[in-house]
Amino acid sequence: MSKLGNETAKAELGRATWKLLHTMTLRYPERPSQDERDALNSYLHLTSRLYPCGECAAEFQELLKKFPPQTGSRLAASLWLCSVHNKVNERLGKPLFDCAHLDETYDCGCGDDKSTSAARQPALP
Ligand code: FAD
Repeated sequence: MSKLGNETAKAELGRATWKLLHTMTLRYPERPSQDERDALNSYLHLTSRLYPCGECAAEFQELLKKFPPQTGSRLAASLWLCSVHNKVNERLGKPLFDCAHLDETYDCGCGDDKSTSAARQPALP
């Protein structure tokens, strides 16, 4: 693949990943249980280990060390992720995002039932 093709694929992967992560934190419980907090923390750390772009994975791992995930509430988690994404934006010379606009930017189309957060689903038999 050409250098341009690589960069385009990397950017698409990044956009898709950020979209999933932001949407997830904005559906995260307002008052999470310890199990839900552990689940989000593990998800973020595993993503940083398994993320397919090596340079991005290394960057994310460093950010998680410097700024440990805030999992105490939906607000804390979504603002934490917004500020981590802004750290990546800063490093890549991209404009910073105003974290006051998270709610209107990320709508999963999942309806109003907050209890449908995946973290609350019972385990499959
Ligand atoms: P993106 O940064 O992908 O953002 C997509 C959309 O999200 C924006 O259009 C905006 O609407 C919104 N947005 C922007 N900032 C925020 C924010 N702070 N909070 C909420 N929403 C926001 N690429 C590299 O080249 N090198 C790297 O080291 C690198 N590290 C990465 C690490 C991670 C964990 C991830 C997920 C991606 C990484 N990327 C990296 C990809 C990079 O961050 C971008 O996704 C990619 O360059 C595409 O950028 P974009 O301008 O389309 O917007």
